Amino acid sequence: MNTDLQDYSHKRYNILTGEWVLVSPHRAKRPWQGQNEEISADDRPAHDPSCYLCAGNTRINGEQNPDYKDVFVFTNDFAALQSTSKTFSVNDGLFKAESEQGICKVICFSPDHSKSLADMAVEDINKVVATWQKEYTVLGAEPIINYVQIFENKGAVMGCSNPHPHGQIWSQSTLPNEVEKKDHQQQAYFDKNQTSLLGDYLEQELEVKERIIFENEHFVVLTPFWAVWPFETMIVPKRSQKNITELSEDESLSFSEAISKITKAYDKLFNCSFPYSSGIHQAPTNGKPNAHWHWHMSFYPPLLRSATVKKFMVGYEMFGSPQRDITAEQAVARLRDLIV
Ligand SMILES: [Zn+2]
Repeated sequence: MNTDLQDYSHKRYNILTGEWVLVSPHRAKRPWQGQNEEISADDRPAHDPSCYLCAGNTRINGEQNPDYKDVFVFTNDFAALQSTSKTFSVNDGLFKAESEQGICKVICFSPDHSKSLADMAVEDINKVVATWQKEYTVLGAEPIINYVQIFENKGAVMGCSNPHPHGQIWSQSTLPNEVEKKDHQQQAYFDKNQTSLLGDYLEQELEVKERIIFENEHFVVLTPFWAVWPFETMIVPKRSQKNITELSEDESLSFSEAISKITKAYDKLFNCSFPYSSGIHQAPTNGKPNAHWHWHMSFYPPLLRSATVKKFMVGYEMFGSPQRDITAEQAVARLRDLIV
């Protein structure tokens, strides 16, 4: 390992977005005198009569949830994007705007209010993956939909208002910023090399083995070289695939196992139900070949040193670039020890 990367401040290049992150490992060597408090998991019931996501309960719009047994999907009652909204554009001098249409859905991972992905069996996570695949196909086939964003906000600290295990799917007409950047970087690399950018990166990571947290037959869980969040991770399929519908049954189970392993390790890291935003970046559903795309799932957790010490993106990070103290390799060493 290049020890300079662990001792001196440097910038790391994100091959997927074309942006840089500032790393300051010398700052992480400051003695830590904070507490390592134990936060007891909430004692949540398996069914909460006041939860709008629990089976059989009535949602705010008056609809009643079915008595579902595994995964349940419904169109968001308060969607940020709507399929029937007016299309228009504004081109008034320097004032420029375009209307945006979309469909937003909510996906309950389990009827059990007290669980999270980390507590669920691999076979049950696999049912969530199957639902993601189905929704990607169904939503992607809609003429107005060119991109499907699958994500989860977990924990009150991430602004998640309901502890019931659930995620969301926002699908829309155009590519959101983060996807646009990754589309551009992958396309440029593919045009030049005729290979997958992330596939080649994975090969290099598997050679040096410095940032690998977990690996099974078809997937690798790693902390990317350019990670911004202290314990950021990424799940990458070994076989180059444009989207999650290309997963074989075997690969789907491997992916579910990878999700299970990393979410369990996260919960152990600070002995709490670990908050994060996770999301899957995959090929747009715009009818183009998109051969340059290699899908992946990322976890962006905000916790830094304990269940209560959170990293804030403020100051220099708002005005300059993202910055981190603990290096990706130091974070990996801690997470790798917690994989069982
Ligand atoms: Zn619930």
